Amino acid sequence: MAGRRLVPRRPLGGHGTAPARIAASALRTRRGPDIIVPVFLPTPIPDAAASPGATRGAALARAACAVCGRRLGAGLGRCRNPLCASASRWFDWNLAIAERRGPLGARLDAYKYRGASLWAASFGRMLAGFLAERGLLEGFDLVLASPTFVGEGGRDRDHVGAILRAARDCLPEEHAHRLDVADPPAVVKTGPTPRLAGRAGPERRRIAEELIRPLLRVPDPGRTRRRRLLVVDDVFTDGRTLDEVARALRLQGGARQVCGVSLLRQPWRGGASGDGRRARPLPG
Ligand SMILES: [Zn+2]
Repeated sequence: MAGRRLVPRRPLGGHGTAPARIAASALRTRRGPDIIVPVFLPTPIPDAAASPGATRGAALARAACAVCGRRLGAGLGRCRNPLCASASRWFDWNLAIAERRGPLGARLDAYKYRGASLWAASFGRMLAGFLAERGLLEGFDLVLASPTFVGEGGRDRDHVGAILRAARDCLPEEHAHRLDVADPPAVVKTGPTPRLAGRAGPERRRIAEELIRPLLRVPDPGRTRRRRLLVVDDVFTDGRTLDEVARALRLQGGARQVCGVSLLRQPWRGGASGDGRRARPLPG
């Protein structure tokens, strides 16, 4: 890994914008642990300003779900994730930078579960590069961390917030100010909740609605009212956590739009194709 640069070695294609190129250039000057940023990403590229219909059409043309970005299996016209087809979903879509597998997945696990806190800098630069390359910093008013409860029964640190702060340090001020590093942040979780990882879909939904939902607070709705918000999280599995965060930001915070970006997306058991009735995320 030594000596590898953050900035992709190949052109970014047609999705880069002038501000994005400025941001990417700024990233070159930063020091710290290096990580390779995936360049050709197996996700749709929704335009925050585009109509949902146009976004869906463009994504289906790539045979990927317009909501979660997963590849649709051969012959499947819709995603196996129930939330993607839900009319009551609170977020529009989620982009994942990469699949949760291989060395990148192992490093995120070490960061998240085994105290490898120095990886925040690398994941932050990975996030900053992705936000800049996809033009997402122009499409949203505020980029915020999915909330973590730090304290008894919860985590020992705000691991997603640390990634967001590291990303902010990589960006020029014209974009950095959109990343929420306020205290308290735009949305907070006021108590510990069971982990969703490794649980089946119905149980994940129950925990999200009954246990996570009551603990989410938007301390200052003035920061989110009528704003377009992008929620950053480490892993996207089925979107239950993002949906609850989006619900709080819409109902309590008055947000106009909520979308998500995750570092990694949990692969589905059995790959892209298969029987939707058996669909469930891999434990993680
Ligand atoms: Zn989907």
